[in-house]
Amino acid sequence: MASLTKKELKKKYQEYKEQGLALDMTRGKPGAEQLDLSLPMLDLVTSKDYKTVAGADTRNYGGLDGIPEMKAIFKDFLEVSSTDEIIVGGNSSLTLMHDTISHAITHGFPESKKPWGQQSKVKFLCPSPGYDRHFSICEHFGIEMITVPMTEKGPDMDVVEKLVAEDKSIKGIWVVPKYSNPTGFTCSKKTVKRLATMETAAKDFRIMWDNAYTVHHLSKDQDELANIFDACKEAGTENRVLIYGSFSKISFAGAGVAAMGASLENVNWMKGHLSMSTIGPDKLNQLRHTRFFKDFKGVEKHMKKHAKIIAPKFEAVIEILEKELGGKDIATWTQPKGGYFISLDVPKGCAKEVVKLAAEAGVKLTAAGATFPYKNDPKDENIRIAPTLPSMGEIKLAMRVLCVCVQLAAAK
Ligand code: PMP
Repeated sequence: MASLTKKELKKKYQEYKEQGLALDMTRGKPGAEQLDLSLPMLDLVTSKDYKTVAGADTRNYGGLDGIPEMKAIFKDFLEVSSTDEIIVGGNSSLTLMHDTISHAITHGFPESKKPWGQQSKVKFLCPSPGYDRHFSICEHFGIEMITVPMTEKGPDMDVVEKLVAEDKSIKGIWVVPKYSNPTGFTCSKKTVKRLATMETAAKDFRIMWDNAYTVHHLSKDQDELANIFDACKEAGTENRVLIYGSFSKISFAGAGVAAMGASLENVNWMKGHLSMSTIGPDKLNQLRHTRFFKDFKGVEKHMKKHAKIIAPKFEAVIEILEKELGGKDIATWTQPKGGYFISLDVPKGCAKEVVKLAAEAGVKLTAAGATFPYKNDPKDENIRIAPTLPSMGEIKLAMRVLCVCVQLAAAK
């Protein structure tokens, strides 16, 4: 589209402002239509039928690491070799990640000389743009964050390898390996191998492998992710990786089931800590899930229904970005094959201004900077777009407003 003059842009912006819009593109929540897909699950565990395949009573205490049929689904989901390498948690993988770090701070991992909290400094590598809540966990526990560039192949491994080899206070790295939040990038086979085999100065180094979007493809054209657990086992570094995932964006975002996959030593370590905080997870919900999905193939089949609903929303975002900003040399954006986000880069120093302008016109976006450690995007250029929750009409309108804001900010 031909460039509008500043005056024309201002006029357009004013017109949007006068519409009194109230649109929300902030968080990656599933829309109601997606949640509806899993409703039949609620009728699968009844007052007459609440026992597992093996006959265990899911109403009672017990089963700290999950019911066998749920562990079987997560074995394939998280791609570990045995159900013994799985701990099924509650409804949130973020809780499992938070608790893992918390236990490391108070007690350390099996290889730690001292609990992380008793070491003078603990640092984490944070590929960015990345997931804001990972960074909040680090901030919460006083872990110093080091920003590492996120590339189309995953974290910039030249930077990662150099840092972890020379600094033993670097204890870990966050990785969303597939359809990453917010870029949609997937780690290449080489990146996976390098992560598994790199030399780390810290003997208790951990990769927080948050595979939140592993089955969240938008079409048949999908990214492939190499198996990091196998790569670590082959390299003799199997304690290095902790794998997380959940049903939050498969069944119900507030009532899914989460799990962690790891080596037996890590699993036993985690179970020891877990047993201090719970006598067992919600097995009724696990049973609902296993009866509904049956197996991992059932999960994959179900995700095709999600894709049908959300792929057109992603397409609409890309189409409007291309139409309104394409060829103007003021913005770049990702075109993910899966996940929940599109990452938009606007001219340096403009992201905050764009988000502010959009908010004033009634379009709420994730705060600029949120995708970086300490909420500080050094170039002030990244904006995360979350297209799943709003309706198609709302998305189109919000994107048009956003594109006017980008052009206005760029013209300043
Ligand atoms: N990891 C990533 C990368 C996410 O984007 C999200 C949700 N936005 C989560 C974890 C949260 O997962 P859960 O609901 O299982 O806590």
